[in-house]
Amino acid sequence: MKDTFTLKFRGVRGSYPVAKKEFLEFGGNTSSLEINCFNQLIILDCGTGIIDIGDKLINDSISKPLVQSNIFLSHIHQDHIQGLQFYKPLFVKDAKINLFGFPPDGENLEDLFETILFDKVFPLKLSEIKSNFKINNVAQNEIVVINQNGSTKIYNTKDSILINEDDIVVSFYKTELHPKYGSLCIKIQYKTKTLVYATDIEFIKGKDEGFIDFAKNCDVLISDAQYTNSDYNNPKNPKYGFGHSTFEMAIDVADLTNAKKLFFFHYDPYYDDNKLKNLQTSFENDRILFAKENLEIEI
Ligand SMILES: [Zn+2]
Ligand SMILES: [Zn+2]
Repeated sequence: MKDTFTLKFRGVRGSYPVAKKEFLEFGGNTSSLEINCFNQLIILDCGTGIIDIGDKLINDSISKPLVQSNIFLSHIHQDHIQGLQFYKPLFVKDAKINLFGFPPDGENLEDLFETILFDKVFPLKLSEIKSNFKINNVAQNEIVVINQNGSTKIYNTKDSILINEDDIVVSFYKTELHPKYGSLCIKIQYKTKTLVYATDIEFIKGKDEGFIDFAKNCDVLISDAQYTNSDYNNPKNPKYGFGHSTFEMAIDVADLTNAKKLFFFHYDPYYDDNKLKNLQTSFENDRILFAKENLEIEI
């Protein structure tokens, strides 16, 4: 179906992966989302959750051609990139992988990846990767248009942009409410629907009005919700300034943006299934939901 726009949570954990039996229901993998817009696969962030996406693609490629990966990164903190080296399509000759992200401090993302992910910290250099792996720098004033044939183009928002009916439009909002270099909120528009991914952001009221405009009236908002209010405000160990939100902050933002659905995301690695299930009883309703590993929805 040409209208297909689905989201599957592959990793919902913040900070670092957790491999304990008490975490199996919500999942212990770090940030990664699998989105399918008809023929095109979009991946948001490369936490350890991306490894399962790669394994599935390799399995599927036994009977059909390996699909192109369009990967967008919120930022390059470890929990958002640590699965990339284990994403199997990277090692398949001629597999097409387009990655988009912002480099901190005006650096070049490709050079940075060579240092922090390959070369001395991995058995391979980037130049030894077999696939057709392209790393693109993007900024807030740019948008990426992906068409159903897999061609991708970066435009400046000031350019006149021709968008066809079946194109996917990806736009960005850079928040500074995440130390030290900020985080890119990512909006995906396909057909009549809009998804906004806003992780690693500390939604302090009045400090990021630009985001409210950016996400206005989205169908699905996926929001950082790392802490409970009591942990955030714990006088012995306050989390103010850590760059993450509480469940209440995420709800405020969903209300301000008039989001139709909100998913809490990027849970603290100490919050096990019991803790999250308890929080579910306080917060969950038809509109406010908890992201869970392998949960799949139609946008
Ligand atoms: Zn994170
Ligand atoms: Zn971060």
